[in-house]
Amino acid sequence: MNRVLVTGGAGFLGSHLCERLLQDGNDVICADNLFTGSKDNIRHLMANPYFEFIRHDITEPLYVEVDQIYNLACPASPVHYQANPVKTTKTSVYGALNMLGLAKRVGARILQASTSEVYGDPEVHPQPESYRGCVNPIGIRSCYDEGKRVAETLFFDYHRMHDLEIKVMRIFNTYGPRMNPHDGRVVSNFIVQALKNEDITIYGDGSQTRSFCYVDDLIEGMVRLMASPADFTGPCNIGNPGEFTILELAKKVIELTGSSSQIVYQPLPADDPLQRKPVIDLARKHLDWEPHIALDEGLKKTIEYFKRIL
Ligand code: NAD
Ligand code: UDP
Repeated sequence: MNRVLVTGGAGFLGSHLCERLLQDGNDVICADNLFTGSKDNIRHLMANPYFEFIRHDITEPLYVEVDQIYNLACPASPVHYQANPVKTTKTSVYGALNMLGLAKRVGARILQASTSEVYGDPEVHPQPESYRGCVNPIGIRSCYDEGKRVAETLFFDYHRMHDLEIKVMRIFNTYGPRMNPHDGRVVSNFIVQALKNEDITIYGDGSQTRSFCYVDDLIEGMVRLMASPADFTGPCNIGNPGEFTILELAKKVIELTGSSSQIVYQPLPADDPLQRKPVIDLARKHLDWEPHIALDEGLKKTIEYFKRIL
């Protein structure tokens, strides 16, 4: 039985990961400061004797004995990561240092939840891992993008200096049940607006694209990456290569919810990337992984979830 630490385990992705790790027979510690996560996301796991929740901020050191660490703690939506940008950078940078220090002390393998945001507003399309990105270092998204880039740097320096077993996963937009309805991400916003028959807010003209991965596919990729041979460090893109404009997404959500919502257009936020789509050849080759859940199917499951909680 592996002892596994999941930071950010009470969040959207973290709660699905904890659930999966318990199903696979692991002993799971979830460390979370509940900034964007919630005990409701892990309430169903609390009675399991192999699950333990610690309220902890990863900008502070943590002393536990574990075999594996999944480092997911970090606010992920623009609304939340821009609320206190200095704290966001601290979470990525001090958080990575603390978790890498812990991994070094206990000899644990450690996986970093990095992001497609390391590619910034990409000039190369679609994005392979070899692309170094086009990131504004001083904009309103920089606290998140640059924080995640420094975290990747720290992971590779710990790997080179201390032979630490690292895995760096670049996650592309992921959606599904337990997304926070108030965090302003596009899928949750559109579904909540549609279910309430409120206006659907498109920022810009809706021609910007994103690739949306359903959470179950994402978690499968994450677990496979952690289990991959030690010489495969990544960075490894995990995402769904299906590419949709934001206008197409809005229309799909209206159709699938049968909503009477109207589409309204609002200003595009600064530095909002125009296009994003992962190349997943490395994941296919090293993890034998690819996504299986199409956008319509995943949206239906997500809509059912929001119907229940609203
Ligand atoms: P989320 O906001 O639901 O989860 C983040 C969790 O981290 C929350 O439970 C929050 O309370 C916790 N947290 C934040 N700061 C913390 C701190 N200082 N100490 C301890 N806990 C802290 O977001 P998510 O979508 O589940 O994202 C999880 C990870 O995956 C993040 O690192 C994010 O950057 C990365 N990621 C997510 C996506 C996506 O589309 N969901 C895309 C790219 C990368
Ligand atoms: N977006 C939108 N309406 C919303 C929320 C987001 O048009 O109500 C747009 C946003 O400007 C971006 C895309 O949807 O172009 C994805 O936004 P999200 O915040 O989900 O993720 P990210 O920009 O980090 O990929």
